[in-house]
Amino acid sequence: MSPAPIIGGLALQGDVREHARMLEQLGVRVRLVRTPAELAEVDALVLPGGESSTIDKLSRIFEVTEPIRARIAKGMPVLGTCAGLILLADRITDAAPGQQTFGGLDVTVQRNAFGSQLDSFEAEVASPIEGEEPATVAFIRAPIVVEVGERAEALASVTGDRVVAVRQDNLLGISFHPEVTGDTSWHRHFLELVEEAR
Ligand code: GLN
Repeated sequence: MSPAPIIGGLALQGDVREHARMLEQLGVRVRLVRTPAELAEVDALVLPGGESSTIDKLSRIFEVTEPIRARIAKGMPVLGTCAGLILLADRITDAAPGQQTFGGLDVTVQRNAFGSQLDSFEAEVASPIEGEEPATVAFIRAPIVVEVGERAEALASVTGDRVVAVRQDNLLGISFHPEVTGDTSWHRHFLELVEEAR
């Protein structure tokens, strides 16, 4: 049997420690990733919530942008949450000046899409795991997927038609924070993708 996978958490800015705690509770090994050498040691990567333009800038400074793009192109499983979803999108609207993404997900994501009156809220979102009940998750200055390209698939939406979760092959992007309310279903779903990819 192959050893348990090592899940990386990009640790340049954002709430990576909450993800690490949740993943460790689910029984996998987690490493914080800040350098290309650390990236090379992980089987999969979590891009946390935070500020996507800051994570973008720091990724370029720490020279992990191109290595992450190369690993995504080779099929590394990635879970992007909130700012992490923005970083996985091929196209973004309302970007900060000069803001770039790693890309990989054939979607257009609008930053801060719920506006200031809904800066932060909780809502029920369908579970990605068949047969499980919807769970409450937190939206914090959350983005929305405003266009789902041909290669990507919408997994969940709120208020009718606002797409907040997408999957494309080994990439999973969600606009909310399941780790804030303790919903483990998205991380468990991600670990299934990681197992399938091995
Ligand atoms: N609005 C943030 C951004 O554009 C994302 C917020 C979050 O990750 N909670 O990066």
